[in-house]
Amino acid sequence: MIRQTIAALLFTAAACLAQGPRILIVTDLEGVGGVNNPDEQLLPGQRRYMESRRLLIGETNAAVEGAFAAGASEVVIWDGHDGSRTLSIDEIDGRARLLQGRPTPANYYLSEKLYDGILFVGQHAMAGAKDAVLAHSQSFGMKRITLNGKEVGELGQVAAIAGFYDIPVIMLAGDEAACAEMKELQPNAVTVAVKRLAGSMSTLSLSHAEAKRRIQLAARKAVADVRQYKPWKISGPVELRMEQHPQPPLQPTGRVQIYRGTNVLEAYIAWLGKP
Ligand SMILES: [Zn+2]
Repeated sequence: MIRQTIAALLFTAAACLAQGPRILIVTDLEGVGGVNNPDEQLLPGQRRYMESRRLLIGETNAAVEGAFAAGASEVVIWDGHDGSRTLSIDEIDGRARLLQGRPTPANYYLSEKLYDGILFVGQHAMAGAKDAVLAHSQSFGMKRITLNGKEVGELGQVAAIAGFYDIPVIMLAGDEAACAEMKELQPNAVTVAVKRLAGSMSTLSLSHAEAKRRIQLAARKAVADVRQYKPWKISGPVELRMEQHPQPPLQPTGRVQIYRGTNVLEAYIAWLGKP
């Protein structure tokens, strides 16, 4: 009996050790290397959209490769661009799974203990960020989003909700400004600047091959060290404030929306509704 119990315990311990980190990759398109033109590269039907998709898939699969190389047991890719309908299951790494469609409520794709770490690929900086490529928060019409007065972009919002569930953000690939924004929230995050602003709209990018190489290495390092990261937690009640740019003549002053909750998740549910 005792021998059986010990055997069962050893089996359980082995199973725990065998289970590597479970990773969520949050994707977007504006932060992918080589992407800089909102009129040609971001939406279906535009002249270089298919090229942008191909580059996003390359960068995303490089992160998947790195995560599995570091021993991940599961990788889920969340399709974050253009209403979550940019990626395709026949182009992602065969070991990963794809989460798509809207709405993807925060507590559906980020729930307690579902993932051990979050990687960003193709991420851009927040609205108004300095020296940033295609910076925006949710839409190009948004001027500023704050959580308890702290300005956040899309990556900060994901980090806050993930933090509510005790999940840390650990790696980011995007433009140089997005990398800086990530470091501010998670100083030990591994970042890969695949491009930087080189003029008012132009960019200086790594080659796609080099971007993929660096992203794979970064994902590998971040996932290998995932247990050392702390989630970004916002304590106390949360006020989510969203301020649009003025749109004269209909909206001469920018519209402001405020949502509150006893925590960050409740504030987001107040905005987006229950899942
Ligand atoms: Zn996007």
